[in-house]
Amino acid sequence: MNLQAPERIANYIAGDLQAPINGKYIDNINPATGLVYSQTPDSDAKDVEEAVGAAKAAFPTWSTTPQEERFKILNRIAELIDQNLDALALAETNDNGKPLWLSKKVDIPRASSNFRFFATGLMHVSTESHSMEDKAINYTLRQPIGVVGCISPWNLPLYLFTWKLAPALAAGNCVVAKPSEVTPMTGYLLSVICREAGLPAGVLNIIHGTGPDCGAAIVAHPEIKAVSFTGSTRAGKDIAATAAPMFKKLSLELGGKNPNIIFADCDWDKMMRTTLQSSFANQGQICLCGSRVLVEESIYEKFKAEFIERARKLTVGDPLDENTRQGAVVSKMHFDKVMACIDLAKQEGGKILLGGNAVKGSGRTEKGYFIEPTIVEGLGPTCRTNMEEIFGPVVTLQSFKTEDEAMAMANTSDYGLSATIWTQDVSRANRVAAKVHSGIIWVNCWLLRDLRTPFGGFKNSGVGREGGWEAMRFFTEPKNVCIEL
Ligand code: NAD
Repeated sequence: MNLQAPERIANYIAGDLQAPINGKYIDNINPATGLVYSQTPDSDAKDVEEAVGAAKAAFPTWSTTPQEERFKILNRIAELIDQNLDALALAETNDNGKPLWLSKKVDIPRASSNFRFFATGLMHVSTESHSMEDKAINYTLRQPIGVVGCISPWNLPLYLFTWKLAPALAAGNCVVAKPSEVTPMTGYLLSVICREAGLPAGVLNIIHGTGPDCGAAIVAHPEIKAVSFTGSTRAGKDIAATAAPMFKKLSLELGGKNPNIIFADCDWDKMMRTTLQSSFANQGQICLCGSRVLVEESIYEKFKAEFIERARKLTVGDPLDENTRQGAVVSKMHFDKVMACIDLAKQEGGKILLGGNAVKGSGRTEKGYFIEPTIVEGLGPTCRTNMEEIFGPVVTLQSFKTEDEAMAMANTSDYGLSATIWTQDVSRANRVAAKVHSGIIWVNCWLLRDLRTPFGGFKNSGVGREGGWEAMRFFTEPKNVCIEL
């Protein structure tokens, strides 16, 4: 199989690769070069209608296909992702601007892991039964929902897309899915892989287009009974407003403003190394990045000096260069947003300790969207810079005196996605983990993921949980059957 990025991306509907019905396309821009390198369908409600029809037609057969056959197909998709690692990683980097080595090492391998995990998982599903002594027995059937919608963002394009598709398909649903219009190429290449893997026509339909025209039509379609969405809190609110009165099942994975809480007794080297990653990996465009760094006062100055020196050495530049640590941010629009956030930090009285500027590329990256790793101090916990998600290579530093003060600062946020805690004191680690209002807590590590564990946020970071059985359960409808003995 020779996977190649085309100049024109196609929708994948009813097993076919086809043009959008309205014939319209959006330019796909490589953020490292600032140049158009392909075109994406600008699909609308008509394409969604066709995709839903195909999914509906495929459902009776797919939902009753024996587990082992479903396993074989989904596992074959995982194998084909592995076999096409280089082509997929290059497509992801050209779409997104992240270093190619990162796409190869993390994003694409995790996409195949998602398919492998849920393919094997579906072979081991068991359901509950409840005995009422000698009166009756109840058993719970977990049936697939039918046609479900999956919508994903641009920051980890194939990884987050497959994190939804794989459990939805494994549970026996048929899917209408939309990757971000900003990074559509790996979603398209996945449709080519699905055809090769023998996924029956209509089981998965991947359509490309914008949020307002294509995404909103998926959410509003009456035949789509559940929606799994990852993206901004703003779009999550719109989606909830449409889906709630239609009584759709909803999983919303939204924004974050995560605290990275560093106590004086931490393992210094590990903390420094990891904090550099949790601050700037993927140009700070990971929902789980620790964008608020909270440091115990007694080590604050030492931390600040070393953190600045280490961040200064991060090479910003061409994502295809293996020495690059920071590639381009995803788009011109996002570049402007992050630069405006840096201006806001200055207006609010923040001191820029490092960075704060655009980086001019050279040669092929002359027109790319690069930003220096940026460190800000001197802002209180409730200012906009510390409350609003920036989603770029920008972190703030704040100091705290006591554990209680650290907790108050950490929880002064409308978001509650993740938190990291650095301490060698086991009791404190457990105490703080229980008190921080976030769905995912890392102690002395960051971004370690076991696919079996629940994943998701509190507060404005969303509702519902993905991962493992949580995801398989989300994509099924439990039905209790009570039999009187
Ligand atoms: P976005 O909300 O702009 O777009 C996400 C997806 O939703 C895209 O496919 C987009 O086309 C679509 N969309 C937008 N508006 C829509 C609407 N009204 N109806 C239906 N679909 C719509 O987000 P983004 O800029 O692509 O991604 C960045 C955001 O995603 C950040 O806020 C980040 O924190 C968040 N994120 C969260 C997680 C998590 O697991 N919690 C993971 C990654 C990213």
